Amino acid sequence: MTSTERPAETPVAPGTVRLCIHPALRFLLPRRGRDSGELDLPHDPDATVGHLVQSAGVPLTEVGDLLVAKVSVSWRSRLQEQDRLDVAVRARPQPLRGPAIFLLDVHLGALTRRLRLLGVDTAYDNHADDDHLVEQAAREDRVLLSQDRGLLMRTALRRAAFVRGQHPDAQLADVIERFRPPLEPWSLCLACGGTLSPVAKAQVANQLEPGTLRTKQQFSRCRSCGHVYWHGAHDAKLQQVVRRYT
Ligand SMILES: [Zn+2]
Repeated sequence: MTSTERPAETPVAPGTVRLCIHPALRFLLPRRGRDSGELDLPHDPDATVGHLVQSAGVPLTEVGDLLVAKVSVSWRSRLQEQDRLDVAVRARPQPLRGPAIFLLDVHLGALTRRLRLLGVDTAYDNHADDDHLVEQAAREDRVLLSQDRGLLMRTALRRAAFVRGQHPDAQLADVIERFRPPLEPWSLCLACGGTLSPVAKAQVANQLEPGTLRTKQQFSRCRSCGHVYWHGAHDAKLQQVVRRYT
């Protein structure tokens, strides 16, 4: 844990408690706690451990073990004055505890396309507001992925995660490494997430450019939106993404 890396522990002052946050979670903290991972807070006998951790900026979706004096505590428990709470990062791979299906918030459109490209069932609506996302995640039992910590702290969410990374490729690596969902590249429609089925060339000929019609032989069509795909229809960047994971 973080405390053992430090040469000497400073005592926790009376009237306060100390959160000691795992290095992998420190980027979520306010600036004053980011280097040391330590945050001293006024002791509030009514505040749950979960409330304290989330008020420091760390959604419980990202948290593994919570320890006080090396003893595991629940997020519902409360601290005593001068307690030190060690907050671990959630271990990876993280068991999904349900179907490997996801729901992404409005800012993760590029990640949505990449997950669908790899055959991961991913719902996305670029107009969905937070209430709608929380409701849909519950109704369809999907893992909600977001970079909005306020959204991830909603108590109604059963399965959710904060996505690390700015670039969609880094975000994809984060999600795949964290949840290890089964992959089946080229099986889903990038536009709507529907299932692709092989289709005879004659059936889609009227939807194709002459060049495509001449050079391509194998086609598939989305069962939901009717979009037609053929081998080579995806740009080089997406082909590269698939190669990285297969
Ligand atoms: Zn589709």
